[in-house]
Amino acid sequence: MFEYGKVCPKCNSNQLGEGTLTGHAALMPKGKIFVMGSPITATVCTRCGHIIEMKVKDPEKFINKKKNML
Ligand SMILES: [Zn+2]
Repeated sequence: MFEYGKVCPKCNSNQLGEGTLTGHAALMPKGKIFVMGSPITATVCTRCGHIIEMKVKDPEKFINKKKNML
């Protein structure tokens, strides 16, 4: 049982699970070629498969601070 306080907007199920996209599916900061991407955490409905929410694990990697590049 996961406690997200959310229900699936498609089927109203509250049986939500969590998964992680890593490897080739990692989201890369745009223009930051030499920076590692961030894994994506997805909250999915275990009943119909709808993805309720996707988040990157390390959002600070996407802060656009050009002066500190490399
Ligand atoms: Zn659902």
